[in-house]
Amino acid sequence: MTQKALPIINFDRCDRCGACVTGCPEQALTMTKAGPVFIQPVNCTYCTACEGFCPTGAIRAPIKVRWALEN
Ligand code: SF4
Ligand code: SF4
Repeated sequence: MTQKALPIINFDRCDRCGACVTGCPEQALTMTKAGPVFIQPVNCTYCTACEGFCPTGAIRAPIKVRWALEN
């Protein structure tokens, strides 16, 4: 089974402003008392836009570049 990549939320840094929830173009997030959670993780396209909405750097969508090795 392939695991879907989702942005990582650091609840210690999150101030519960809701910007990522309202800004997500796919409605993948919802707000709870604890902070934003993925209510529709399948909707997330990993567009990384939520990183730009977050004023505290609490939500991160890191991208790893892998180089294909040639023989
Ligand atoms: S990466 Fe894009 S689609 Fe996924 S939660 Fe963030 S804003 Fe929404
Ligand atoms: S935008 Fe950042 S600080 Fe605001 S609710 Fe989302 S993760 Fe928390």
